[in-house]
Amino acid sequence: MIGITSVNVEKSKLDFYHLLIIINHVKQVKFIFVTGGVLSSLGKGIATASIGLLLKSRGLKVTLQKFDPYINVDPGTMSPFQHGEVFVTDDGAETDLDLGHYERFIDVSLSQDNNLTAGQIYNAVIEKERRGDYLGKTVQVVPHITDEIKERVWRLANRDGVDVVITEIGGTVGDIEGLPFLEAIRQFGLEAGRENVIYVHLTLIPYIKAAREFKTKPTQHSVRELRAIGIQPDFILCRSESRLPRSAKEKISLFCNVPYEQVIDAVDVDNIYEIPLVFHEQHLDDLIVRRLKIECHDPDLSEWRRFVERANNAKEEVNIAVCGKYVNLRDAYKSIIEALHHAATANGVRLKINWIETDEITDLDQDLKGSSGILVPGGFGVRGIEGKIAVIEYARRKQIPFFGICLGLQCAVIEFARHVCGLEDANSAEFDPETRYPVIDFMPEQRDLKRYGGTMRLGAWPCRITPGSLAWRCYGQELIHERHRHRYEVNNEYRDTLAQAGMVFSGINPDRNLVEIIELKDHPFFIGTQFHPEFKSRPLRPHPIFFHFVKNAIEKAKGHPGKAHS
Ligand code: GLN
Repeated sequence: MIGITSVNVEKSKLDFYHLLIIINHVKQVKFIFVTGGVLSSLGKGIATASIGLLLKSRGLKVTLQKFDPYINVDPGTMSPFQHGEVFVTDDGAETDLDLGHYERFIDVSLSQDNNLTAGQIYNAVIEKERRGDYLGKTVQVVPHITDEIKERVWRLANRDGVDVVITEIGGTVGDIEGLPFLEAIRQFGLEAGRENVIYVHLTLIPYIKAAREFKTKPTQHSVRELRAIGIQPDFILCRSESRLPRSAKEKISLFCNVPYEQVIDAVDVDNIYEIPLVFHEQHLDDLIVRRLKIECHDPDLSEWRRFVERANNAKEEVNIAVCGKYVNLRDAYKSIIEALHHAATANGVRLKINWIETDEITDLDQDLKGSSGILVPGGFGVRGIEGKIAVIEYARRKQIPFFGICLGLQCAVIEFARHVCGLEDANSAEFDPETRYPVIDFMPEQRDLKRYGGTMRLGAWPCRITPGSLAWRCYGQELIHERHRHRYEVNNEYRDTLAQAGMVFSGINPDRNLVEIIELKDHPFFIGTQFHPEFKSRPLRPHPIFFHFVKNAIEKAKGHPGKAHS
C-alpha cells in the first residue's frame, strides 16, 4: 500500500486520518519537531523560525506550527502580563506571539491551523465524543487526544505544495501538560517513518563562573527525560552565553547519544535575526536536508545578511517614546518593537525606545525629553488612559511625529474631541459607559452581544485610502488589508464635528463604513490606525507607516520635520 510499512491500515478502516497519512507518503513531506528543555524563555520560537528561514532560503516550501500545552482555547482572553502579546493572523486567529516570529522570519501569512492549544484539542475530542463519533469507546489521552494532535500536523502537511512542516512544542520537557504532545510526536515518527522526521531539542548550558565551566548536566537530564518518553533527539541546540568548548560538546554528544556535529551552539546574540546565520555557519541546514534526504540548492542568505549587517552597523540613533501600560513586560509589545526595528534599520539608524508607563507620568517635558517620535500602542481597560491622552495632546501641540495604534487611535480621537472640538469629557464607551460624548463606541449591531468572547473585530479587513493623504503617501496605494483586534470603533455620529475641526479620516472600511485611519491637517506627521500594522512588518519589508514614522522622527530630531515621501 504505497510503501507504508510503519502504519497498519486495514482497508475497511480507511478513514480521513489514514487518508491524510497516505497522501503524505506520496508527497514525501518532511517533519521537524522542536522541543525545549531545562527552562522556558530560551528562544525556542526564534530557533524554530530560524530553521524555517534556512530551509525556505533553500527553495523549500515551509510551514510552521506551534502547539501550546495550556488548556485555554486561545490566548485571546489571557492577560498580556501572563502571556505577552496576542498575535493576530489574517484569518482572525488570536495566537501565541511565536507565530509573529514565524511570520517575520519566513515571510508568509499563517492561519488558525498554525497554532493549537491543548484546550482546542480537548474541545475537538469532546465534541466528537458528544456526537458519538467514537462509537461508545472509552475516550482516552492515548489514542484519542494524541490522534487529534497528530491529525493537526498531517492537515498542515496537506496544504498546497508544502515540503516541510516544522512544529514547535510549547513549554519544557518534564511539564505534565506537555506529555500528550510529546507522546503524539513520538507516535508521529513511527507513522511518518523515522527517515522523514527530525527531533530538535533546545536546552540551556549554564556557565558557572566559580568553576569556569559550562555545565551539561541539566541538558543530560532533559534529554534523558525525552528518551524515557521514546524520543531520541537528532539535534541539540545549546543556548549558552558564548560558544561551547569542544569538550562540553563532546560530553553532550556522548551522554545524549547525538553525533558531535549535530550538537549546535545557539549562542546569545544582540540581534535575533543573526540566529539563522549562527546556525548556518555550523551547517545546521545542510545536516537537516542531508538527514531528511531532501534535494535542494544551497541557501541564498545574502539579503538577510545585508539586513543584519545594516542593523548591526547603524551608528546614528532614533529615540522613540512608546507610551503604554505594559511597558515593564516587553513581550506585550513584541511586534511593535520588531516593526520599529525593521523601520529603523531600513532608515539606517539604531532604535532606542523610551518606555513611558502612562499611569506614572508626572512631567511630560522631562519624560519625553530626547524622543523625536511618540507611539501609543493598543491595549484594553481604563488604566493609563488619561496619561495616553496627555501624551497625545503633547505630540499634537508640539508637532512631534505621532503614531497611534488601535487604542492609540481611539485616545487621539478622544483628545481631539475634548481639546479641539470642545466636547468636554468626551470618552470611549469602554472607559465611561455614561459619557455624554461617546466618540468611541460599540457599533449599533454589536450592542446586543453580551458574551465577552466573540465580539471583536478580528483579522484582515480591507481599507480604502484617500488619495493625497498622509496614509496614501505612506502606502502608495488605495486599497490595503490590515489586521484588527478590537471591540470599539470611531462613532460615525461624530465624524462631521471632528472633520470640521481638522481631523482627516483618510482610511475607511468600504463594506461597513468604519474609520480605519485618522490624520490631522495641521501637523507634520500625526496618524492613527484602528488596525495593528505591526503584525505585517517584516525585516526585509518594513511596514510603510512605521518606515515613514521613523523617517519623520529622524527629520524632527535634525530640526526639519517633513511629510511622508512616497
Ligand atoms: N480596547 C479597545 C477596543 O477594544 C482597543 C483595543 C486594542 O487596542 N487592540 O476597541
